[in-house]
Amino acid sequence: MEYDIRIGLEVHCELNTKSKMFCSCKNSFGDSPNENCCPVCTGLPGALPSLNKEAVKKAIKTGLALNCQINNNTYLDRKNYFYPDLPKAYQISQFYEPICQNGYLEILDNDIIKKIRIKEIHFEEDAGKLIHDRYDDLTLIDYNRCGVPLIEIVTMPDIENINQAKEFLDGIKLLLKYIGVSECKMEQGMLRCDVNVSVMEKGSETLGNRLEMKNINSFSAAIKAIEYEAKRQIEELRKGNKIISQTRKWDSINEKSVLMRDKEESADYRFFKEPDIPFIEIDDKIISEIKREIPILPFERFLTYTKKYNLSKDDAMTLIRDKEKSDFFDKCVLINNNYKIISNKIINDFAKISPEEFCRVIDFVNEGRISNSSVGKIFQEMEKNNISASDALDNLGLNQINDENYIEEIIKTVLEENEKAVEDFKNGKKNAVGFLIGQCMIKSKGKLNPQILNSMIYKIIEKGE
Ligand SMILES: [Zn+2]
Repeated sequence: MEYDIRIGLEVHCELNTKSKMFCSCKNSFGDSPNENCCPVCTGLPGALPSLNKEAVKKAIKTGLALNCQINNNTYLDRKNYFYPDLPKAYQISQFYEPICQNGYLEILDNDIIKKIRIKEIHFEEDAGKLIHDRYDDLTLIDYNRCGVPLIEIVTMPDIENINQAKEFLDGIKLLLKYIGVSECKMEQGMLRCDVNVSVMEKGSETLGNRLEMKNINSFSAAIKAIEYEAKRQIEELRKGNKIISQTRKWDSINEKSVLMRDKEESADYRFFKEPDIPFIEIDDKIISEIKREIPILPFERFLTYTKKYNLSKDDAMTLIRDKEKSDFFDKCVLINNNYKIISNKIINDFAKISPEEFCRVIDFVNEGRISNSSVGKIFQEMEKNNISASDALDNLGLNQINDENYIEEIIKTVLEENEKAVEDFKNGKKNAVGFLIGQCMIKSKGKLNPQILNSMIYKIIEKGE
């Protein structure tokens, strides 16, 4: 029996607002424990929350970047449960009217574009952090993270294999960075992910029972968890066993999933509208203002770079992973159409100079005035003295072709093309070198510095033996 796998992901993303979701405490990582706390985020009686506008804007921006519909009238809900890291004994979240719905993210799976549908994006607030390993007999709690704004991006179970899961997670992380809503530092827990895996007979329309693994704090662990869980479920089905809906925990040290509890139902959380926060009305004017702030997104850049500019996938991704480089490239290609040279130089010799001046240097290479390997030196000279490309060329004396790298390239080509003359020279016909020097001069249109050429050509012929 063959099986199909269906994966759904829930990505939790901490928003990079200055203050927390419902109070004015600082939203910052790494401060001393319980430094950024107040009666609101520690749930003291009588404290009232007020909503962070910036968090709402950032959630809308994420929704727009993921092609979602924005809910003009939305509100927050209480999700009731007790855990020591949640002092209010409820989390302010969204259940009934998520702020964004029905979007998608496009990914590439073996050269085929696939849309992964986004079911919804909703608000959550983060919980505190339990510290278990400081003392043997007690657990410490740091409430600094309590009330930090989170959005949860929930996909439909559209992901069919490991590669698609990887592409989706990489794609979403890059997108969140591009639109500037999160720093996405995984080592600081800014992105976490829940994974749902189900398995069904190949071709079946009905999804198998869903298994959820919560709070996986690295994408590589998420991928391992999916691989493990899909394999485990297929083995169970092959043995004739049934898959029961469960919440399992991913044990990243032993790399296996272990049962946490039977799957809880949403009714268990007794969701109801948060009474302390008014309805959120979002007018279309604000939505279109936010829309204008969204840059061209990574996937669109990827298609343009590979299809229109013919860059390799690797080069395109190297540029795109660094938004500054990608923006720089985009400006250069408006001025100059040597796409491959430009991308190469940005990737290898990126300098903080204007696209116009940067492209002048590209032209020097194209015109044969300098060698590829001198480009780095010119950039250094330009940066050091804050001068133009041609001034740097003058300063370095590269205008008259004193560039040893370039001369060496010419000599080597001439030697390859005139094996007989080289052979003659080695057999004692010393004047054969005059012929070779002449050929170098013809090739460079007479621009090579003759002294340098003269001293180099002997060395290169000797080295070639
Ligand atoms: Zn607070």
